[in-house]
Amino acid sequence: MLKIEGINVYYGHIHALKDASVDVNQGEIVTLIGANGAGKSTLLKTISGLLKPKQGNILFEGESITGRQAQLIVKKGISHVPEGRRVFANMSVEENLEMGAFLRHDKKGIREDFQKVYDLFPRLYERRKQQSGTLSGGEQQMLAMGRALMARPRLLLLDEPSMGLAPLLVKTIFRIIAEINAAGTTVMLVEQNANMALSIANRAYVIETGRVVLQGSADELRASDQIKMAYLGGH
Ligand code: ATP
Repeated sequence: MLKIEGINVYYGHIHALKDASVDVNQGEIVTLIGANGAGKSTLLKTISGLLKPKQGNILFEGESITGRQAQLIVKKGISHVPEGRRVFANMSVEENLEMGAFLRHDKKGIREDFQKVYDLFPRLYERRKQQSGTLSGGEQQMLAMGRALMARPRLLLLDEPSMGLAPLLVKTIFRIIAEINAAGTTVMLVEQNANMALSIANRAYVIETGRVVLQGSADELRASDQIKMAYLGGH
């Protein structure tokens, strides 16, 4: 579904992604694991058109989206939930969700997706009139995910959805990611919480200082001593 071929991405002189190649098959959950600053967020931003690679190609469903505008990439079926949530703080929950559908014109489909999002996140339905800046961190994460789903993506990019959340809420968010995937959306997940990420992923890539250094099935990586020592706290 997604084929990233040897991309190089720079911030000025900083070489943030070095010949990175990553594939995602339809229906999968693929996770990117790596330390702070490894380049994981940079990879998601490059897919969604917020950054442009200097070299390399990104193909989505067989078509090149390399260097295309972010808006076009959303239209093609890729939604990005950025790190830190970034909801529109002065808008209500409902208005934030409406914003997620701003490129769509199919009113009936949009109504159905409101219902789907409220079914996935009943808390958002309860809070639909509340100003989003006053939501808790976990509720804002739910809203950011719900807003992305309102674009009806076929591929959902999630950047650190568990960051700063209490353990019980982390479990809930991961359960919902698995539900979203089971309902047919392919997921690419960036996580510091490698244990949780590998527990729901089909496959994973390990990124170190901008390079893909390891890839495999989630089970293979969980069993690898190298991964256990570096990313799973030695367990
Ligand atoms: P984290 O989990 O801490 O977000 P990450 O793996 O997502 O880490 P990136 O945010 O992709 O890492 O950063 C990759 C590298 O690019 C880092 O060295 C970072 O300092 C650098 N970088 C990221 N954003 C910028 C920017 N706007 N300007 C300059 N350098 C940047």
